[in-house]
Amino acid sequence: MDSRESAALERRPQVMTSLESSYNRRPQCWQNISKTEWDSWQWQWRHRLFTADDIARAIDLAPDEIQAIREVAPIFSAAVSPHYVSLIRRELGLNCPIRMQCIPSLRELEQHRELSKDPLGEYRHAVTSCSFRRYPDRMLIYTTHECAMRCRHCTRRSRVGLKEQISNEAIADAIRHIRKNDNIRDVLISGGDPLSLDNRTIGWILTELRQIPHIDVIRLCTRMPCTLPQRLNDPELLDILKQNAPIYVNTQFNHPFEMTVESAAALENLRMAGCILGNQSVLLRGINDDGCTIEMLNRALLREGCRPYYLFLCDVAQGTHHFRTSIQCGLNIMQHLRGRVSGLAIPHFVIDLPDGYGKVDLCPSKVTATPDGTMHLCNWFGADVEYRDPE
Ligand code: SF4
Repeated sequence: MDSRESAALERRPQVMTSLESSYNRRPQCWQNISKTEWDSWQWQWRHRLFTADDIARAIDLAPDEIQAIREVAPIFSAAVSPHYVSLIRRELGLNCPIRMQCIPSLRELEQHRELSKDPLGEYRHAVTSCSFRRYPDRMLIYTTHECAMRCRHCTRRSRVGLKEQISNEAIADAIRHIRKNDNIRDVLISGGDPLSLDNRTIGWILTELRQIPHIDVIRLCTRMPCTLPQRLNDPELLDILKQNAPIYVNTQFNHPFEMTVESAAALENLRMAGCILGNQSVLLRGINDDGCTIEMLNRALLREGCRPYYLFLCDVAQGTHHFRTSIQCGLNIMQHLRGRVSGLAIPHFVIDLPDGYGKVDLCPSKVTATPDGTMHLCNWFGADVEYRDPE
């Protein structure tokens, strides 16, 4: 082992060895709640916090946060589950990565020319009133405006939280489009969070899609394992997923503090129901924009059987400028991961281009060629290794 390799190994972060339960972290206002109530998704759903007064019962809000909830929430709604708000680390103040993802900030009111209400150009690629098709073989069905929480960095934040609902007729129209187009092989059920729909509607959508012979892959995008993991304690829902297996479930954990006893149980329940799990993190300034944080997160995800799939550069959604990082920041993280964790824990780092131009893979450049045909490859700890292609 050369000295640079051993120096790199010494920089490895502490690995999280045990998980905390949100129940044990619950704020004073829920001290009398039983574990059974806490583990009930219906209880968690009913007790979500929406207003400054609601949230102030659970955590101390700074004056700026109170003002932000009042001024921002009418534009980009606010909501957080008891589970998620319990994960806030008071000792980290306003810089807590959990707090930053769920409590509105006045910075969301900043206007920037490049930001958009529809950053991925989805409505330009709409094929029915609630479905978008940006690639020939894939289609996304936007099934609901509802979510357990309103993530402050959300790409679809201009729609999430809207009061009116997507009708079953609109969803049926999207399914009819899929049935008629046999070049669609892969369907993403998205929103909002599709697990906020009732079980009957989820079962109906999955069964309809499963009966279409040309559909190879059904994906379901949900942040519920992270933001309201108790939803995955519902045996009826798990049974519906199992009957339609395999469902590829893409979830979104962005920070190791989000991996709790409850989330680990949710992921296990999904795996037991035959789901194939992947995680799509969003790279967020001040939250997870360093290699050690993403390394710890990805180790925790893999331990719970959820493969890190994507690391997304934050989309150019309105009100999210303060979360955006440079591309170089993500490249540095990818450089950090290589060699420190197995390939299983290395996601694709991608930018989903504005206006619907699709995803572009981004990776640090590792190869330089010399005029004599020798290639110079840079390994994980920075050594320059010569390599020649076959004659
Ligand atoms: S759960 Fe997903 S769709 Fe809902 S607010 Fe969060 S990021 Fe947006």
